[in-house]
Amino acid sequence: MKSAILTIGDELLGGYTLDSNGAWIGRKLMDIGIRTIWKTSVGDIKGEIVEAMALAASKADIVICTGGLGPTRDDITMDAYCEFTGATLEMDEGYLELLRERFSRRGVDMPESNLNQGLVPDRGTIIPNSKGSARGLWCTVDGTWLCILPGVPTEMKSMMEETVLPELEQMSPNELIITNIRTTGVMESQLHDLLESAMEESAVNIAFLPGFSGVDLRLTAGDESAVAELASNIYDLAGKYIYAEDWVTLEQSVGESLREKGLMLALAESCTGGLLGDRITNVPGSSEYFAGSVICYSDKAKINLVGVKSETLKKYGAVSEETAAEMAAGVRKVFDADIGVSITGIAGPGGGTDEKPVGLTCFGLDDGEKPFTRSVQFYRDRRFNKELSAQTALNSVRLRITGRI
Ligand code: AMP
Ligand code: MG
Repeated sequence: MKSAILTIGDELLGGYTLDSNGAWIGRKLMDIGIRTIWKTSVGDIKGEIVEAMALAASKADIVICTGGLGPTRDDITMDAYCEFTGATLEMDEGYLELLRERFSRRGVDMPESNLNQGLVPDRGTIIPNSKGSARGLWCTVDGTWLCILPGVPTEMKSMMEETVLPELEQMSPNELIITNIRTTGVMESQLHDLLESAMEESAVNIAFLPGFSGVDLRLTAGDESAVAELASNIYDLAGKYIYAEDWVTLEQSVGESLREKGLMLALAESCTGGLLGDRITNVPGSSEYFAGSVICYSDKAKINLVGVKSETLKKYGAVSEETAAEMAAGVRKVFDADIGVSITGIAGPGGGTDEKPVGLTCFGLDDGEKPFTRSVQFYRDRRFNKELSAQTALNSVRLRITGRI
């Protein structure tokens, strides 16, 4: 079965909101063997939405739309749905009562504009929304399965996972075995060369999916044992770059390893300004293995908060492996942690010299046994450098735990 995705909202076209819904839905569908062959975004204009629904339905067996189901005047996807499917709207008094109760529990009267959300078409099946008030709908139009979901990503995701994906899996049982292997710290071309022999011997389809902080490998075939064999060869050839499978992030996978081993991690972040701490604490339960982070941006902070010697800063500079080593050892002591990790770099665009160009970043790791430092030359873009620095430091924890550095 083939799918089309339609994301709706003026903010998507005006560039105020990135269409993360489209990307997420495409990946989730791929996971259950449904390939997306067409995707588009349209503004909050009824005629445009109806036209796009018709075009999507002419191309695909499954059409998923998001956006425009909110309570305000510009939310007109429900009207477009009615025009496209020939449905008419009726007031669902029971649901309105429920909404009113929800508002009164919060101590406010329901605003008039929320009345919209009680309207329900006489055609289609309601998709419940456990995270918000806008319900979705699905129906079949001339053999095409169509659904509409709200644009708020948390609501859309829970509705997809609770209702839409199980429904689609039943409709279109996945005959493909899909395994997604996640790597970091290796370039796509390097990884390709490393795996060439294994790929040549295998009939499994392998896709290289590069992101800015790593490359995912998607293995697809009808034969489970062939996928397992190629996956096992990939682990043999490129194991040191692999951190997880499927949707697991590096912070989840490193967190799980720290938790399993009963280790506490502490960070001294300079150029990343707390970005790595943010990533680590996005994982629920991170307090079990994360002691804390010091943002030691200035020289003074490096000296006073994590005990870097002023002579070290004078002699080698703030961006040096010597300073990184003292930051890691210092922060480990400050937090009485098992592993201290440090990041200090020139994020740019200014501040570079011939000897230490923009993008130069130094890392330290101290576990009380074998101190480790390294320098990496990143690029010129500030945000990119911060993201890559956080990724590299986090990966160094994985490499130490697995005995690779
Ligand atoms: P709506 O259902 O149109 O009221 O959408 C509500 C909010 O969801 C918008 O203000 C956006 O912030 C967000 N949103 C809508 N569409 C998308 C999308 N395709 N990707 C990410 N966020 C979205
Ligand atoms: Mg909208």
